[in-house]
Amino acid sequence: MKVLLPTSTAGSLPKPRWLAEPEQLWSPWTLTGDALVDGKQDALRVTLHEQQLAGVDIVSDGEQTRQHFVTTFIEHLAGVDFENRKTVRIRNRYDASVPTVIGPVSRKAPVFVDDAKFLRAQTDKPIKWALPGPMTMIDTLYDDHYKSREKLAWEFAKILNQEAKELEAAGVNIIQFDEPAFNVFFDEVNDWGIACLERAIEGLNCETAVHICYGYGIKANTDWKKTLGNKWRQYEEVFPKLQQSNIDIISLECHNSRVPIELLALIRGKKVMVGAIDVATNEIETPEEVANTLREALKYVDADKLYPSTNCGLAPLSREVARDKLSALATGAAIVRAELESAG
Ligand SMILES: [Zn+2]
Repeated sequence: MKVLLPTSTAGSLPKPRWLAEPEQLWSPWTLTGDALVDGKQDALRVTLHEQQLAGVDIVSDGEQTRQHFVTTFIEHLAGVDFENRKTVRIRNRYDASVPTVIGPVSRKAPVFVDDAKFLRAQTDKPIKWALPGPMTMIDTLYDDHYKSREKLAWEFAKILNQEAKELEAAGVNIIQFDEPAFNVFFDEVNDWGIACLERAIEGLNCETAVHICYGYGIKANTDWKKTLGNKWRQYEEVFPKLQQSNIDIISLECHNSRVPIELLALIRGKKVMVGAIDVATNEIETPEEVANTLREALKYVDADKLYPSTNCGLAPLSREVARDKLSALATGAAIVRAELESAG
């Protein structure tokens, strides 16, 4: 990456209302058949254009072709029955009706590879592509086959590795695994969660990232955050082992959160995507607020390893709010970039 402090988003961006109902998760598509296929491609073009206008350096698909960051990937796999649903607790936080694993899981065909090729053909900028992480995948399913969280996660890691290798071949520069579950199941993360992640990135030459956050700005998450006290030290549990792992980049929630920023010292040496935009409020950050979060992070992260980003995905927000937040991110990063360049 040539630019200092290259900006990116954590993942999802709002979809146009002609493609899906706005401002909600699991939003139903408003098109069908060929119109839906065309609509998704047009939405990819629009989201790319908006990121570039806002000044985002590492662009993404904004998850325009998926209904949900975990479910859509799982829908493409064999061994999972979406008709046969059971109610489980997601990340110890809220109940959801989820599909059942009924046999060996496998990838029937590439999931996002055509979308990635399409995006690659539209831009020369570096592309980041998000996939769900193995531990977060198993946490959204009822397992009636492997009957072992670790075994199922390992199978998913192998499937993710197949997809990741094809995304790399399609020209993706950074492959990111979303693991909000890393903020909840600390013992499992250290026992086998990080090992599964390393299996998922095996043999990749592109950069790899893991995104660990406190979730979208939906009520179940904001209610959970209220129970976490004044200092959110969850990252402290998994950082030491992540620091030792082969993952290149760690993407984190930092702005407006109660994460003590000094915890970043525990992942010294890694590249860090610092969340400098709050996704749980419609208030637009000022560039100076963004700059302040980045300056704080710079006390613990070397400038050439700091990637300004958003706390999480922006899908549930309005397009207008998301656009303004991306502009604030880019302008805030530019302030700090100028400071670093004049200092040295
Ligand atoms: Zn997130």
